[in-house]
Amino acid sequence: MKNKNIAIIGAGLVGSLLAIYLRKRGYQVTLYERRPDMRKVNIPAGRSINLALSDRGWKALRGVGIEEAIRKIGIPMTHRTMHSMDGKITTQPYGKDGQGIYAVSRGILNCTLLDLAEQNGVKIFFDERCTEVVLAKNEMHFENQQTFEKSTAHADFIFGADGAFAATRLQMQLSTAQFNYSQSYLEHGYKELMFTANADGTHRIEKNALHIWPRGGYMLIALPNLDGTFTVTLFFPMKGNPSFESLHSKAEVKKFFSDVFPDAVPLLHDLEEDFFNNPTGSLVTVKCMPWHVGNQLALIGDAAHAIVPFYGQGMNCGFEDCTILNDLLNEHHDDWEKVIPEYERLRKPAADAIGELAVDNFIEMRDLVGQPEFLLRKKIEGWFYEKHPDKWMPLYSMVTFSHIPYNEAQARGNRQNVIMDKIMAMPDIEKKWNSSEVENAILNLLKVNS
Ligand SMILES: Cc1cc2nc3c(=O)[nH]c(=O)nc-3n(C[C@H](O)[C@H](O)[C@H](O)COP(=O)(O)OP(=O)(O)OC[C@H]3O[C@@H](n4cnc5c(N)ncnc54)[C@H](O)[C@@H]3O)c2cc1C
Repeated sequence: MKNKNIAIIGAGLVGSLLAIYLRKRGYQVTLYERRPDMRKVNIPAGRSINLALSDRGWKALRGVGIEEAIRKIGIPMTHRTMHSMDGKITTQPYGKDGQGIYAVSRGILNCTLLDLAEQNGVKIFFDERCTEVVLAKNEMHFENQQTFEKSTAHADFIFGADGAFAATRLQMQLSTAQFNYSQSYLEHGYKELMFTANADGTHRIEKNALHIWPRGGYMLIALPNLDGTFTVTLFFPMKGNPSFESLHSKAEVKKFFSDVFPDAVPLLHDLEEDFFNNPTGSLVTVKCMPWHVGNQLALIGDAAHAIVPFYGQGMNCGFEDCTILNDLLNEHHDDWEKVIPEYERLRKPAADAIGELAVDNFIEMRDLVGQPEFLLRKKIEGWFYEKHPDKWMPLYSMVTFSHIPYNEAQARGNRQNVIMDKIMAMPDIEKKWNSSEVENAILNLLKVNS
């Protein structure tokens, strides 16, 4: 079994990490990537210059020995900082005891994974776009993106790690009976902008926070970079008023930002230029089933489950796919016929759950986080969690700081929500939120709902 020859299509974050895991197990691994080698050419990031890395991602990186190296280039963000229209600032801790998520550069992370893959003996072919997979022959067809030459390769097993619009998934759709597939776009898109650094390279606003400007139907967020800049993302309706479609001129953009994000405007790098020059991205959730075909091909990462970015979990979920797959290979002694169906059985409901939670979290981020009632609710949950960590864990902590399967976290979160609705309806809750009366009420409701 160990002489199995494995091909991975897509050398993004998940494909590169998977290659390292499989190579370390002793397999012959070949990675095929459509784009040029990002370590040699300057490729525009395209989407999300930096990403929030949390516990599921860290665990996967630990498994291949690069957790510490990546932590060194990450910036911990221990809380959300909310900026209201009138300039008022509120904060909300992400977890307890200074727990945080980390802002990490997508480019550096991907390059580090590619380096490690090569050091471990993974063969990587760049500029090779997979155009077809002929499952009956375990055959892959490629077109070189520089020379347009066509080539063919074979592998005992093929992983599709080629992202949200995966060619491998399309092949499954075309060649597999009863392939379920859904792709749904949010009405919002996104655009990346930038906050400049101070002249000495320090950050112009608090560095160790994820900043949010919640405005009901839309929002701006900012994540810190090592060079003192922030990557700023506007999540905004594609159509309607206001929307990407409704802002036609530089003057309109300047006026809109000055009206709704006044404290952000002085921090922004050439707003009007960047607004019109930078691409507008769309936000898609992709679900499909099955994730594998026999003992020949399986999907992983965004190719299997693209989700919207509002829980900061897309990459973390793809990295967790790698951890779970590796655990299953250990458990079943590399018996792929057992491992692959089990991988799909465990990961499909987990990915569906985080896909749904990510959509829900958009409403929380763009709207609720600005509301006092929401902040009180989170404060009560945090307080009760401190006192009874064995009985309660806030949903955000389950998703971000634990390894509880996402689907289990979602189910527990729903039960806790029902309880919190009742607690928030108690008279004078804002005065007695940390009283023994509230504590006992939650304990009783937990018994009833258990
Ligand atoms: C705005 C935004 C913010 C985000 N923020 C976060 C965050 O904070 N935290 C988080 O965890 N996740 C975040 N995500 C999600 C994260 O970016 C993805 O989940 C992650 O990149 C998935 O990795 P992947 O390797 O599966 O796919 P990708 O990163 O898309 O990589 C796929 C690779 O396959 C290659 N490829 C595609 N087609 C072919 C082909 N036919 N042949 C060969 N190669 C091919 C591509 O060039 C690419 O290199 C965010 C996403 C967006 C859009």
